[in-house]
Amino acid sequence: MSLGYAEKLSYRDDLGGQLGEPEIFDKAEALAANAQHLADMVRASHAVIVFTGAGISTACGIPDFRGPNGVWTMQRAGKPLPKARCSFTTATPSLTHMAIAELVRRGKVTRVVSQNVDGLHLRSGIPRDKLAELHGNCFAERCPSCKKEYIRDFEIETVGFKRTGRRCAEMECKGRLKDFILDWEDALPEDELTASEEAASAADLAICLGTSLQITPACDLPLRTPKAGGQLVIVNLQKTPKDKKAALLIRGKADEVMRAVMKSLQIPVPAFVRQDTFLLHISQRSGSGRGISLEARVSSRHGPECTMPLVQSMDISFLDHDTLRPGKLRTQPFVLTRLLPCPGTYRMAVTINLVDAIEADNRRVERTFSIEALATHHDHSGSGDGASQRRKRQKITTSQTEEITVTTQEVKFEL
Ligand SMILES: [Zn+2]
Repeated sequence: MSLGYAEKLSYRDDLGGQLGEPEIFDKAEALAANAQHLADMVRASHAVIVFTGAGISTACGIPDFRGPNGVWTMQRAGKPLPKARCSFTTATPSLTHMAIAELVRRGKVTRVVSQNVDGLHLRSGIPRDKLAELHGNCFAERCPSCKKEYIRDFEIETVGFKRTGRRCAEMECKGRLKDFILDWEDALPEDELTASEEAASAADLAICLGTSLQITPACDLPLRTPKAGGQLVIVNLQKTPKDKKAALLIRGKADEVMRAVMKSLQIPVPAFVRQDTFLLHISQRSGSGRGISLEARVSSRHGPECTMPLVQSMDISFLDHDTLRPGKLRTQPFVLTRLLPCPGTYRMAVTINLVDAIEADNRRVERTFSIEALATHHDHSGSGDGASQRRKRQKITTSQTEEITVTTQEVKFEL
């Protein structure tokens, strides 16, 4: 995949903070004891705030920034940037993401504050109003006029609050949408920050997961909890400048720690199930005298111009009508046009072939649709008055839109 996000940020020589600090691992026994300690703290608390960084997404195949092989570490060393195992678009949430989502669902975690832009917290099912994305989200664009936020299934092309070229879908608004991804110089989003500060002060436990707590002002936020009398826990493989403030420090991978915590709490981690929806538009036009013009178009539910990053190709064929040539569509937009010879029912088989990053079991999606071809061409009946004759000669256009919703990804987590 491309490290699209990192490459889109403006170049910066001074990245601030420490880079490439060595990773430290608690020995197995200490790790188990620490995880047990954390589980006890979670059990005893009423309001937990979770603060996350790139370290919770490395298990998803997304490189971190400041680790020994992180994006910024390698950039500063003049070495090639690390390769990601998957794109943001097809990445699946980790055990940690899903565990946090479950703790939010149960009301234990009151707010999640993330510096990650990979969109995996939302994908894991955390409601938007329980989540602050301090550095933005590569899948989000916002309307500056009515403040509506759109979460797409494709990565937004720009960073730094630039116009994306798309418009707000609200009929009364139609504002010009902007990306919601901070560049280096951009201030943190006020609305996300204020609510997070309040939640951090109100929480009795703040857990920092996979963040080196180097970037101000985001890294100061979890300190509000101990300042207000609560406790701070840091789970990170590298030292952080806030380690001294922590009641508990755990040097372990986020997934390993959270697996042990959830096991101790006896709370199962829910499976991740992703569904995607595509739209099939079928339109027909008659009256040309040669037949019925059919157009079948599969498009993104986000708009006809939007790309569908999960779709590789499509095959459309007609059942019961051998004379109609099947279509193999290899590039977007996926549009097939055919001339149907006569009125009647046509059954159309649509196969959507998803990209290789999708597991083989889910990669091929087949659906059948029925089309009623209603032609009025060449009316030879001779009956009826003049008006109906004229009506019958008019072109008739009909269209139908079908939703194709498919389960594209499933990941189970055993404790
Ligand atoms: Zn709007």
